[in-house]
Amino acid sequence: MSSLVAASDLARAAYCPRQLYYARRDDDRAPPPAVREIRALAFEYPALLDGADDALAAQPISVSPTAYRENLARLRERGDWDALTDPVARDVLLAGKDCRGVAHKLVRSPADGDEDDRPPVPSLVSPGEPPDRGVWEPQRVRAVALAKALAWERETPIPRALVEYPAVGVVRTVGLTTGNKAAYRRALRVARDLDFVPSRLRDSAKCESCAYRERCGVKTWSLSSLLGR
Ligand code: SF4
Repeated sequence: MSSLVAASDLARAAYCPRQLYYARRDDDRAPPPAVREIRALAFEYPALLDGADDALAAQPISVSPTAYRENLARLRERGDWDALTDPVARDVLLAGKDCRGVAHKLVRSPADGDEDDRPPVPSLVSPGEPPDRGVWEPQRVRAVALAKALAWERETPIPRALVEYPAVGVVRTVGLTTGNKAAYRRALRVARDLDFVPSRLRDSAKCESCAYRERCGVKTWSLSSLLGR
């Protein structure tokens, strides 16, 4: 178990290898309380869908209450709404051949058939917002890592994973495609071979939201950074 790479480390490797270096050196990888509060929303979709404006405004959501309800109404149209709102398990530690990590939900989707013994798919609950399409690269590799770990444990193929963005009420699917598996393997190589201080990213917007930017010594000159936001 100890030689397994943490799926969250794969996500950092995909984001910035230097960030992973700092996180490992500090051994400080627990999510802050604010992240846990946002993740909790992923277990309350039906109540949030019916939530009044003031009740939703008190939640850690990133869009207006109206937009949030609209997003959840679209989510309800997905075939796996019932499965998403009634997962077969939550916060499950999965250990595969190469990686281990926590699936925030295991979801048994109707897309996988009606049989009761069909395997569930893992869901990763992100505290952030999604890109316009698909998922961000760190979540892509982490989702693949969870699907592969679950497949290893169950000894059966797991064709996809889910990434939930409860701060906005959006859920995306990550298939185990050739491209996604290649991205996973790239991140795994970086995470395994990290025995040096990697170079800083150059001119990257990623540094704006990196918790290590001061220690790293990068300068960020965006309007938001100049305003101290
Ligand atoms: S500030 Fe930028 S280069 Fe430095 S660790 Fe963070 S993301 Fe990487």
